[in-house]
Amino acid sequence: MEVSNNSAKDILSLIKQNAEALHPTTKGNIDIDEIRIEAGALYKAAQYVAQKAYGCVIVVVDTTTYESAGNQLYTHLVTAGVNANVTMIIPNRTGDVLADEASVIQLLLDVQKASARLVIAVGGGTLHDITRYCAYTASIPFISVPTAPSVDGFNSKGAPIITRGVKVTIPAIGPDAIFADLDVLVQAPPTLIAAGFGDMLGKYTSLFDWSFGAQIADEPYLLASAEITQRALARCVHQVDQIAKRDVEGIYTLMTSLIESGLAMLLFGQSHPASGSEHHLSHYWEMAYIRQGKRQLLHGAKVGVACIEISKLYHRLAAEGPQRWVYTPHIRDHWSTITKQIMRIPDAQKLGELLKQVGGPITIEQLGVDPQLLERSLNEGHLVRPSRYTLLRAYNELNLAHRIT
Ligand SMILES: [Zn+2]
Repeated sequence: MEVSNNSAKDILSLIKQNAEALHPTTKGNIDIDEIRIEAGALYKAAQYVAQKAYGCVIVVVDTTTYESAGNQLYTHLVTAGVNANVTMIIPNRTGDVLADEASVIQLLLDVQKASARLVIAVGGGTLHDITRYCAYTASIPFISVPTAPSVDGFNSKGAPIITRGVKVTIPAIGPDAIFADLDVLVQAPPTLIAAGFGDMLGKYTSLFDWSFGAQIADEPYLLASAEITQRALARCVHQVDQIAKRDVEGIYTLMTSLIESGLAMLLFGQSHPASGSEHHLSHYWEMAYIRQGKRQLLHGAKVGVACIEISKLYHRLAAEGPQRWVYTPHIRDHWSTITKQIMRIPDAQKLGELLKQVGGPITIEQLGVDPQLLERSLNEGHLVRPSRYTLLRAYNELNLAHRIT
């Protein structure tokens, strides 16, 4: 695997060192051939594709990403002698490009018509989900070309697809390579950069929930993945000024951190390092919006605000002391350790200051989520991922037990 930066190199050697020790089912989870995060990466992507001689390739865009990177990549591909087509995914009636049946079929038909041997996702999380699922279904590889540092799912293997209005995550495939062009990324809209930062801030609570689940419910844990995620998060917070200014160094740090967070999940084989109760709230809100036919909010914007709400709840529980848990000894007996771990999550004020600095929403009002939905999600959010044991789940199960007795 070739990489173009030191921190990704460190991560990859760490991954290799740990590969032998991993559980057999996680072996081979990281099979990315090349990662480039640099100026001019679009050109490198075209060179890579030409050299691999895939045959016909399809560049998958929407109207926005066609302008920001897709047309440039297409030109580079044609110049390099690649037989390339463009598929522009059509938005739905509310103007959103969704990873739903319509988008998936649109792309699959184009893949079949052209007998394409490779699909290239040029855009954010949704275009990646559509492309990833189509590549998996057509048994062809895909390449990731992120156009904004907005989310940590570029190198994920799971494809969240909306079918008949319900979101299901299907195990699919990861990209063969990632080409993140800094010339494109620094031009990304500030809201998308703030969203990427919000997705990273969410790691404060996801990492807490993961260690909580491991201590209390014997959930599987991989220290290497936790450390990779922790370091990526710390680097983003340290460079919040540069990220807020959207200078090259800041954008490079944010993109690298998002990709490392994705690698940490691949290494572990599940989403625990990067997704805890803050993501469960975000998914809960998203499903409510899909049911109501509302325009979707940015994933990372939701995660940032959800992280603040979870931090408020967890800090309140820490301040309360262990009495709530008196009849759940498996939690009560660990309470002093749990409290110390909660204290490592910045409080709502500190998280709000960080998000405010990059221009992201910090309250549900700014985000556009109504208080009743927040309330419901705080009561039921853990049901989104019933297999995960988070402090939110423990808290709600205890409340439920009190109501029943
Ligand atoms: Zn996320």
